[in-house]
Amino acid sequence: MSSAERARRNAFANSLLDRCGEYRGDSAWLAKQRGCAAARWLGFDADGRTPICEGRLCWLDAAGVAPDAAANFLGRLGDVPIFTLRDAVSHQLLPHADWLDLRSAAACLARDEAGLLAYARGLLNWQEATRHCARCGAPLRLVEGGHRAHCEACDRLHFPRTDPAVIVIVEHGDACLLGRQAAWRPNQYSTLAGFVEPGESLADAVHREVREETGIEVIDCDFHSSQPWPFPASLMLGFTANAAARDISLADGELEDARWFTAQDIVTGLRDGSLRVSTPFSISYRLLEHWLQSRAGIEISDLSRAD
Ligand SMILES: [Zn+2]
Repeated sequence: MSSAERARRNAFANSLLDRCGEYRGDSAWLAKQRGCAAARWLGFDADGRTPICEGRLCWLDAAGVAPDAAANFLGRLGDVPIFTLRDAVSHQLLPHADWLDLRSAAACLARDEAGLLAYARGLLNWQEATRHCARCGAPLRLVEGGHRAHCEACDRLHFPRTDPAVIVIVEHGDACLLGRQAAWRPNQYSTLAGFVEPGESLADAVHREVREETGIEVIDCDFHSSQPWPFPASLMLGFTANAAARDISLADGELEDARWFTAQDIVTGLRDGSLRVSTPFSISYRLLEHWLQSRAGIEISDLSRAD
């Protein structure tokens, strides 16, 4: 399976939208999209939660949106222009909806809608964190459907920011390396992860993160798949890797514990509750699923306590 095929199975990586990026700079074209009778708007409340009705995103149409409401253009679903409102909407607008944050929504939405929601949320996260020019400090004005922020004082154009982070399942012989942070739920372990630093290749970041967190030297690593992770602005880049040896030393204090788990350790732990893993919509879960399938022919979804 290619990394692109793997990515399509990752949550938040399945938006079916045509982003129409080549047209965003055309204000007349954007106005036409906005005036289209079929256009739909997604709203968020003041806490960043979005309305869900019967497991689907709950949309507003033109009748529910003020003509001058500030909105981001996300793209087109077939002939339907899709927008997100920038200002918070009232629950009274959709009184029968459940208002869920992105993590909760991801657990109940279809893949394409979870991807669309992550895209919408990620763009809003960037806008909320990017009010002023990083060069001169003047207020910014959003342009191109919300995908650029322009500083009229110094003419600098700001682009939406995405922070790359590597996440890796390291193996040695018949075991894989999982770690836990002190703040996590009891018994929860996960693959190792960390942000890519300036001047670093992805492979460099994998080697450094694993060494810093566990003292383990990685011999080599291969790309698995990627996942948008807008909490608030990450792109998770998943890897598999091989370790030179198993001696663990919790070097940088980020982890409370790290251990080698055989496939049987994971099966037993998930079944009796002595091990918990990350949520199924995380790439950490996908990496562990991949490792169990490829090394032991075990389907993680068959292990009842995986949550
Ligand atoms: Zn400026």
